[in-house]
Amino acid sequence: MIADKMKPFVQNNSAIREMFEEGNRLRGIYGAENVFDFSLGNPNVPAPAEVKQAILDLLEEEDPVVLHGYMNNAGFPDVRESIANSLNRRFDTKFHAGNIIMTVGAASGLNVILKTILNPGEEVVVFAPYFLEYGSYVRNYDGVLVEVSPNTETFQPNLEEFATKLSPRTRAVIVNTPHNPTGVVYSEETIKKIAEILEEKQKEYGNQIFLISDEPYRELAYDGVKVPYLTKYYKNTVVGYSYSKSLSLPGERIGYLVIPDELEDSATVFQAASIANRVLGSVNAPSLIQKVIGRCVDAQVDLEYYDRNRKTLYEGLIKFGFTCVKPQGAFYLFVKSPVADEKEFCAAGKKYNILMVPGSSFACPGYVRLAYCVSYENILNSLPAFEKLAKEYF
Ligand code: PLP
Repeated sequence: MIADKMKPFVQNNSAIREMFEEGNRLRGIYGAENVFDFSLGNPNVPAPAEVKQAILDLLEEEDPVVLHGYMNNAGFPDVRESIANSLNRRFDTKFHAGNIIMTVGAASGLNVILKTILNPGEEVVVFAPYFLEYGSYVRNYDGVLVEVSPNTETFQPNLEEFATKLSPRTRAVIVNTPHNPTGVVYSEETIKKIAEILEEKQKEYGNQIFLISDEPYRELAYDGVKVPYLTKYYKNTVVGYSYSKSLSLPGERIGYLVIPDELEDSATVFQAASIANRVLGSVNAPSLIQKVIGRCVDAQVDLEYYDRNRKTLYEGLIKFGFTCVKPQGAFYLFVKSPVADEKEFCAAGKKYNILMVPGSSFACPGYVRLAYCVSYENILNSLPAFEKLAKEYF
């Protein structure tokens, strides 16, 4: 017998996972090179060489009792200091080790901060489309998810509606830029407006409203686009970062939270979040990979690879008649379905071995997500299949 809260999860087992299994089935029949599986955001570009070297060096150089041992729930102080210094160099911030908590990826970071700040019934506002797990994470702490409907012209957040969705029960707002599933980067103007609205509402309600910046794609930005660092615009910002995509280490489960000094009650929030890391069962982020991060804070994956995929797939799809906002970051395209029911469109894609995720998996029906973190050859081979699919509609 399982808990009532788990029953809906078992019933609606994520569409993305089902798609993954479908991909394996098709690859078994047609061969991997003839299946165009755009369903999963699992990076295909390998981790930078520095990562492997750091693992090897650490095994030789570090005291194994330290390397594999328990530590402070917030993580190794030297690693947190390296991260703070790297952020300060790149974003002109003033962080120190005491602002950084190492987490088990962004997923765990979000859970840690939500556990730290949410009382039952309090609201967390998100902008559709959004990473659907946000709903699960908020409900883990008996919070209520409040959605702002999408602005499908630009996929920048719908700010007019946003202001109306804030209430005395609002505890946090989650933003994600560069964005999954649209690839959009929120402009500085957008961030400033979000900050302005939050300041006003904090005053009006006399409440602290946290802005949670979920940024696993921060480093994946193209065409020199600037990804604003949110703590500089709004004091009550908590940043949730992950190395899953930026260093292609999703299985290693490593990331961090930034809780800046400027945040109201910063020291208490930091202490509570460190304890949340412990009581949620992670205790601390994995030790070896923390130390690896400490040595590779400025390492980068080959961004050119994703960029070439992005341009080739985007240009191909537009040429065939599809409509899509040009993505500036992450590794996703969010394509308008040529028919109202995008699940029908996904089913049509399967006839050509194209696997796409329906927009309803991101609270935005009528669109499909393509994750282009696949090989360039696969992108090239998929184009004739997309052309055939397009001919069914245009
Ligand atoms: N947030 C967003 C927007 C994501 O797309 C993902 C993963 O795809 C996550 C969080 C979770 O990332 P992590 O692997 O670091 O837990």
